[in-house]
Amino acid sequence: MRFHVLTLFPEMVLGCLNTSILGRAADRGLLEVDAVNIRDYTLDKHKKVDDYPYGGGAGMLMQAQPVFDAWQAVRQKSGSACPMRVIYVTPQGKVFNQQMAREFAGEEELCFLCGHYEGVDERVLEEIVTDYVSIGDYVLTGGELPAAVMIDAIARMVPGVLKNQESGEVESFQENLLEYPQYTRPEVWNGRPVPEVLLSGDHAKVDAWRKERSVERTKQRRPDLYAGYDLPGRALEYLKKDRLLHADMIEDIRNGQAKVLAVREDGVILKDTVSGVYMVTAQNPDVGERLLSMADPDAKVFTCHQRFLAESIERRFQKTFLSECFQVVYTKKSPLPGPEGIAVRTLGEEYTDLVHSLYPLIEKRERVREILGQGILYGAFLPGEKGEELAGFIGTHEEGSMGILHVLEKFRHRGIAQQLERFLINRLLEQGKTPYGHIFTDNLASLQLQKKMGFRVCPGKIYWIS
Ligand code: SAM
Repeated sequence: MRFHVLTLFPEMVLGCLNTSILGRAADRGLLEVDAVNIRDYTLDKHKKVDDYPYGGGAGMLMQAQPVFDAWQAVRQKSGSACPMRVIYVTPQGKVFNQQMAREFAGEEELCFLCGHYEGVDERVLEEIVTDYVSIGDYVLTGGELPAAVMIDAIARMVPGVLKNQESGEVESFQENLLEYPQYTRPEVWNGRPVPEVLLSGDHAKVDAWRKERSVERTKQRRPDLYAGYDLPGRALEYLKKDRLLHADMIEDIRNGQAKVLAVREDGVILKDTVSGVYMVTAQNPDVGERLLSMADPDAKVFTCHQRFLAESIERRFQKTFLSECFQVVYTKKSPLPGPEGIAVRTLGEEYTDLVHSLYPLIEKRERVREILGQGILYGAFLPGEKGEELAGFIGTHEEGSMGILHVLEKFRHRGIAQQLERFLINRLLEQGKTPYGHIFTDNLASLQLQKKMGFRVCPGKIYWIS
């Protein structure tokens, strides 16, 4: 990989980069650092490269012409076919991190522009710079050290630069964790022994110990980093403390449909990526407010498990429609007998109009067609006067709850609903899922049916807000 550095002090940059690991990689032809002296390109006869800022103020500013001409010279000698990224190192940029280092390491060539004095004339920056990057929220005298810092972090990601590729992969910031503590010989130093597990020779135990220490250390030293660590795993850990109440959120994560937005010790918010529904649970209104701040201000539909959250959502997102449901969960693992005497099949898009006319809860015809297109609606067929007739249907809503249950008038009171439910429960169990559904609190007939089928009714309610 080739790094060009536009600078007034080339020796400062090279001094940092041509020793140790990077120096060795340069000797092996893996890296090249080309430090270009901007002063060599000035047209001023006194070799001046800076001047006073227009409008007054302290200090001097680097002029546009020498910077631009130095950049042109770099461009001409560039060996890459694609346009080179030009990084202006500046306290006004995005703060550099490991992920950015990894991304930049994908380039064949990079150009760094180091400012000095009060900085650089804005017009040349507008002309050539593609990325504005800082090394932290403090001001240094020049860009040479920031450029060297970034080049070091980027270069060690280049394959072959580190001797043991592993040491670049298992270290701080991997999966949003800091690295675990490490020890080398002697076994006891200053009366302090090396942790026993590291001498055990049991690799699984060592790995588990290291992971635990990493998590502990990150939680303690960098809570900001820890907030992004293993969101699905940590969300499940929290949600499983009340499996019945959180069956919907647990299923959404297990089915790989959830984007977990935040996990706290007292609440979780996620977004179902298929339907766009936000699902929230929180232990108190304050936490609820914090979690809700993670949702898109234009969010359309929410479900939540606490009344106070429902009220916050109504207020915060100006929603007016609220429905209260029981959450019922089929916690058994064994399939149910049946269905008997009816044929159950996936319904195709040709049933759009019929289903739309019979099931008013899905307002838009197009939505019905989409659901049918996804193959998640099943019809029960019985012999009728004109051959087989559709007697009823059932399905799963996009976010995963069972529903869309309807039995046609003339087939009622024959146990069709039960048969359809049995079919769907068995199908979901086959797929390794936990069947669950939401029943409006005033639909006592349905609640009775669910209980009869073996569903457990969660004592806490679920609220849909749209
Ligand atoms: N007047 C500028 C400002 O307030 O944003 C600061 C100029 S600074 C004294 C001179 C040069 O040092 C900058 O042009 C930049 O290239 C470099 N520099 C200073 N602090 C930096 C940081 N935190 N990250 C990256 N570059 C920095």
